[in-house]
Amino acid sequence: MKIRTISSAELGSRANFSDAQVRKDLGYFGQFGVSGAGYNVDELKGELETILGKNKIFKVAIVGVGHLGNALLAYTGFRKHGIEIVAAFDVDVRKIGREINGLTVRSIEEISAEIAKKGVTLSIITVPAAEAQEVADSLVKAGIEAILNFAPAYLDVPERVKVKNVDFLRELETLSYFLVNKGEEQEQQVK
Ligand code: NAD
Repeated sequence: MKIRTISSAELGSRANFSDAQVRKDLGYFGQFGVSGAGYNVDELKGELETILGKNKIFKVAIVGVGHLGNALLAYTGFRKHGIEIVAAFDVDVRKIGREINGLTVRSIEEISAEIAKKGVTLSIITVPAAEAQEVADSLVKAGIEAILNFAPAYLDVPERVKVKNVDFLRELETLSYFLVNKGEEQEQQVK
């Protein structure tokens, strides 16, 4: 079978980076390519999947099954990226016990037991801002390692827990700034 290879220049042109940047970035993780021969495509793919944790399944819990939590639970595309939502929690008695996409919403009281039972390492917070810290504290206590936080609140967690904040509003504001200032930029380019 013929070994497929790709050069750093071709990888760079596909990703819109320079070949030097590609070599530097990949070099950060080890020696993958052969000078003059490029990268073995299958080997590189395997290495990158390992680096990105793509060959693992991450068990995820969602806390807060409102508009956003429901939308995330309804999305079926996470699995093929190694993300499996295995638990959902809420405080609202009208939501507890309800089934969404094959998953039963549990009471927040059950968070520690469920997280341990299901081997959850990552959690998504979609509760109101005022509730977010308390939820984060419960997640930390339950042994969670990473949090994706949608609530507009700063979370105080131990260093061992990685937090990523998602803010669509800020992204939209950046785009609205771009739209407002687009005319001016074009004017400056013409001058
Ligand atoms: P929502 O009110 O529809 O849902 C919140 C849910 O959290 C409700 O089901 C509520 O019962 C539950 N809840 C409240 N306290 C809880 C607790 N202590 N434990 C468990 N569950 C609890 O709100 P939404 O529209 O889905 O928004 C959710 C969060 O996401 C809000 O903080 C909102 O500001 C934020 N949000 C962020 C973005 C973004 O770009 N980051 C976009 C939209 C919404």
